[in-house]
Amino acid sequence: MAALSAPSTAPPKRFLVLFDFDETIVNESSDDAVVRAAPGQQLPDWLRQSYREGHYNEHMQRVLAYMAEHGVTEDSIRSMVENIPPTPGLLSLFQYLQAHKQDFESVVVSDANMYFIEAWMERAGVRHLFHRIFTNPASFDAEGRLVLLPFHAHSCQQCPENMCKQVIVREYLARRQQERGDCPFQRVFYVGDGANDICPMLALGPRDTAFPRRDFPMHRLLQKMQEAGTEGLKVNVVPWATGQDVVDCLKRLEKERGHCS
Ligand SMILES: [Mg+2]
Ligand SMILES: [Zn+2]
Repeated sequence: MAALSAPSTAPPKRFLVLFDFDETIVNESSDDAVVRAAPGQQLPDWLRQSYREGHYNEHMQRVLAYMAEHGVTEDSIRSMVENIPPTPGLLSLFQYLQAHKQDFESVVVSDANMYFIEAWMERAGVRHLFHRIFTNPASFDAEGRLVLLPFHAHSCQQCPENMCKQVIVREYLARRQQERGDCPFQRVFYVGDGANDICPMLALGPRDTAFPRRDFPMHRLLQKMQEAGTEGLKVNVVPWATGQDVVDCLKRLEKERGHCS
């Protein structure tokens, strides 16, 4: 009889760390940084005012079209992105994850776009740390314009129409558990800052930890949900101000023994 599954070469990693990008990994919104490549380093009022709530992806598409029409090149957009500073302590957190890569799988879930995230990560030398990047597809077309596409379609009423991070996290956890021989992650960590990092909190359990950036929207919204006793919110909440705060918490939890490897 042939074995049903091939012997695995490495034990599965025990922990999953999910990262937002804008204002979590980098200390600014990448879209705001890129706008500084526009003529006069800002957008005209008519373009700024064309934004409609819940349609941010379409708005950014108009911004990028405007920039291409005004001669802003791929090189200048790329260099704006590459020069966004990392959030304080985030590089220490990446060094910690690199040094403990047998235990941690790292993934990005971001409503920015693939071009910005990969450009920044390649410059920072951290692209190899990430198993997957879930974000809006983006590439330059023949006219030199960066074209964005929505990440997916979903039916969540709380999220912008191009992305629900809860759907992404639930699907990823289910798929990885299956791929890992039915072994779930021992714990899941989520490092974020924004209002769109709230919906995925409902996919996490009582062993998992949410790291909301202190005094940012995700932190304020989680506090309100905790006070209101929101049903389905089971995750532990540990606010962070620098990446070192996250390292300190991971160090404590990493010492625990795993249950399937
Ligand atoms: Mg963010
Ligand atoms: Zn959602």
